[in-house]
Amino acid sequence: DHGLNEADPEVCAIIYKEKQRQMKSLELIASENFTSRAVMEAVGSCLTNKYSEGLPGKRYYGGNEFIDELETLCQKRALAAFHLDGKKWGVNVQPLSGSPANFEVYTALLNPHDRIMGLDLPHGGHLSHGFMTPKRRVSGTSIYFESMPYRLDESTGLVDYDMLEKTANLFRPKLIIAGASAYPRDFDYPRMRKIADGVGAFLMMDMAHISGLVAASVVADPFEYCDIVTTTTHKSLRGPRGGMIFFKKDSVLGVDLESAINNAVFPGLQGGPHNHTIGGLSVCLKHAQSPEFKAYQNQVVSNCRALAGRLIELGYNLVSGGSDNHLILVDLRPLGIDGARAEKILDMASITLNKNSVPGDKSALVPGGIRIGSPAMTTRGFSEKEFIATADFIHEGVQLSLEAKKSVSGSKLLDFMKFVTSPDFSLIDRVSD
Ligand code: PLP
Repeated sequence: DHGLNEADPEVCAIIYKEKQRQMKSLELIASENFTSRAVMEAVGSCLTNKYSEGLPGKRYYGGNEFIDELETLCQKRALAAFHLDGKKWGVNVQPLSGSPANFEVYTALLNPHDRIMGLDLPHGGHLSHGFMTPKRRVSGTSIYFESMPYRLDESTGLVDYDMLEKTANLFRPKLIIAGASAYPRDFDYPRMRKIADGVGAFLMMDMAHISGLVAASVVADPFEYCDIVTTTTHKSLRGPRGGMIFFKKDSVLGVDLESAINNAVFPGLQGGPHNHTIGGLSVCLKHAQSPEFKAYQNQVVSNCRALAGRLIELGYNLVSGGSDNHLILVDLRPLGIDGARAEKILDMASITLNKNSVPGDKSALVPGGIRIGSPAMTTRGFSEKEFIATADFIHEGVQLSLEAKKSVSGSKLLDFMKFVTSPDFSLIDRVSD
């Protein structure tokens, strides 16, 4: 049996190039992070070889005594990491990722063509919350269920809860979804609970982006108000790529959530769980209970505030005027450039972030803003000082895209990138092998 380099130098070389790219760029994509070496060891282990359809103690395959032990440990750690009482809450740790986890919840709670309301994608919601255009039902969620997205108040950049309430009263959804991919503020869970109760709907929170912040109690706690909470495991939580579904153990609106959700995961939509991911997730959830993790998440939020503050000083418009969490949305339209152009120029300088639509955009194809997140570079050891410098580099990149003719040599940005890519840049050591 050979190691990767010997067995497949071609794939090995690609992995090496990707690793260099990850180490040498300023990684500011809000949904990404650097997981630990320990998580990667578990993900790259023999756990990947095992089939274990079913749940601990109730499997369709033999040889699962250790997999049972692992999945039970993972469930326990998941509940502990989110401060949940195992008598009141249960969790399924098998979802393969965030979109499948969400679809599993819909499959568990809804009949085909039942109605749902999630935040509209151009206003920060996720595809899997029911995105559709006037011409096309884009996401499977909008193909199989009737979706009526709610939106932001464009003057404040905050969720328009009054409009959500009015629309919910008319549309009578069976499920209301909180949570977003690009929303810099906390959701108002008590208000959403009230709206859901008013129309007899389930309330679900997709905390994919902020699950690390929730575990560290640095943002509002969705578990106090929601019936179901889904998450990915690879964003602010800093685990392997995967998903989880938390559910109340009491029956809600006459539905036994535990059996409905477990059955929707398997045999409803999945086969064998990815045990190597469950191994990596268990490691991540142990870390998520440590004081270092709490300090890290506090730093993620302070870094994001420092970045936001500096960009505001430099004259930028932020959607909602700032951030309560790990990300900001910068509206570039007043400067006369779009997010796609800024993304491209910044990418050339190894600053990785993404173009994002901002409220009021005419076209989703040429979005007017960029989304910037702090989790990944905080993992690399950045504090407020480096995030302020990062804001200056982003500013310089945006200026460069505005003045395409300006010579880039001698720019501070390029000097910085030379420094970052030099062997003296100590933060590189912090990235796992
Ligand atoms: N939910 C939210 C809020 C997300 O932002 C994302 C991904 O970015 C997902 C779900 C989907 O996760 P995945 O890409 O793992 O399917």
